[in-house]
Amino acid sequence: MSAETQTAPTTPAKSMDDIMSLCKRRGFVFQASEIYGGINGFWDYGPLGAQLKKNLRDKWWRDMVMNPCAGDAGPNGAPVRNVALDTCIIQNPRVWEASGHVAGFNDPMVDCRESKARYRADHLLVLKPAGDHDGQMYAYVENDDAQRATALKKLSKYTKRDLGGADVESVSLVSLGDEALARIVGPDASEPGTLTAPRAFNLMFKTYIGATAGEDDVAYLRPETAQGIFLHFKNVVDTTRVKLPFGIAQTGKSFRNEVTPRNFTFRSREFEQMELEFFCHPEESRAWYEFWRDWRMHWWESVGLKGENLILREHDADELSHYSDATSDIEYRFPFTSPGFGELEGIAHRGCFDLNAHQEHSKQKLEYFDPTRGELAKNGQPKGERYLPHVIEPSAGLDRGVLAILCEAYTRDESRPSPEFMKLHPEMAPIKAAVFPLVNKDGMPEVASRLHAELFRRFGMLGAIETDAKQSIGKRYARMDEAGCPFCFTVDGQTQEDQTVTVRDRDSGGQERINIDAVPGFLSDKLGVG
Ligand code: ATP
Repeated sequence: MSAETQTAPTTPAKSMDDIMSLCKRRGFVFQASEIYGGINGFWDYGPLGAQLKKNLRDKWWRDMVMNPCAGDAGPNGAPVRNVALDTCIIQNPRVWEASGHVAGFNDPMVDCRESKARYRADHLLVLKPAGDHDGQMYAYVENDDAQRATALKKLSKYTKRDLGGADVESVSLVSLGDEALARIVGPDASEPGTLTAPRAFNLMFKTYIGATAGEDDVAYLRPETAQGIFLHFKNVVDTTRVKLPFGIAQTGKSFRNEVTPRNFTFRSREFEQMELEFFCHPEESRAWYEFWRDWRMHWWESVGLKGENLILREHDADELSHYSDATSDIEYRFPFTSPGFGELEGIAHRGCFDLNAHQEHSKQKLEYFDPTRGELAKNGQPKGERYLPHVIEPSAGLDRGVLAILCEAYTRDESRPSPEFMKLHPEMAPIKAAVFPLVNKDGMPEVASRLHAELFRRFGMLGAIETDAKQSIGKRYARMDEAGCPFCFTVDGQTQEDQTVTVRDRDSGGQERINIDAVPGFLSDKLGVG
């Protein structure tokens, strides 16, 4: 599903090591439990990262709950209506039986998109050119001598032709990691890159409720926020005035015991989702699917992920889950997936699969009665129609969104005094502005501190407004560049004479002078707030 859509790269890949080291240095992302050696698959956000993550979550909440789709009408011509929900991480374990999360496989599995075969990941071995190599590789199933012989024949042909006859070695597929998958030809495939990353289907974290902690007390940490929404579909209909079509939105932590957590925060074991379940009449579901697919793509563009690194990928019919009529992924070209893409959000047409499953398992009717539909009665009024709504699910990963924003923002320009800077969209930037006295004397700190107080009062709710008088002005600018602060206002000698300050633009490094009284207006224009 992720990281394997291939297209030619048009911009040089950024180094993930550089991005991770800036994230650590500036306090965007820290390794969880770092002083104890860390814990694989878990990441914490530092002061800047926590605010960036909040900015992205807040924007989602604003655009999906408070003012859905920024007021755009849906395909029915009416404003889109969504309401919010906040459900528990731990639910009755029967929820996960109904959803299909308990059943299924307990072992990490690898699927082949080409042959449709499925393999135990730990049973797959890979024949490759010896040592560190970027060459093509061939997988075979352990103990299958015929498959091994075929793989060896193909690899020898390839190494002779392209590598002048290199030695070959056999390694386990799991030891190679996701990045190598694009170069591996599956045991029953003809092309490289058709094997998925290993996945455990039963990847839920188990816990125990209560003091006895016996097998009857087993519960699970939710692997997605979506199911909590389905459970309360009826309650929301009965307790609010919402009528179909409408959506229920929720953000929150989800947990998956991923077999191979990797690529920084991209695949972690604890992560946050932002999910909407949009309920509608089956006949209208296709139109709503297309609406959400396009609107969600537009939304990711609006947070600064424009251009060649962001794509919308419609799933082929053979990729769809058995209950889904249509699914698309919004994918970003991360440095570690390049030239391929990794999934940020999936938009799935789920039919009535989930409501139906919960209806069957709970024996509670979850149908919706729509008085405006159905045959006409003698009095000319519709008799009403009872049905299970269809669901369109735009399901986004908050941590992957933050990571994409960090990767997109990271910029290196050796010609600048501070070569690394973060070109964050002003709405996402954790620090909105900084106010500096050029030097810490001659009345400049007092003027700067008055301006800082004014900006803090006006914009402090949106993010930090920094002020700092220590170190050279160049070092202070460099610090703000790495934090992604879009504007620095500097009080200098000329301020006393003509009431102007300099505004330094993070991206160009250029400066202009504006009147000190015009600073709040300048900033509200740039931040897009009234
Ligand atoms: P993938 O194929 O990459 O494992 P998925 O298709 O299983 O993802 P969904 O179940 O559709 O993912 O979850 C919705 C979103 O939740 C994904 O688009 C992604 O942004 C996020 N997400 C899923 N798994 C993880 C994870 N392990 N770490 C971080 N984010 C995740």
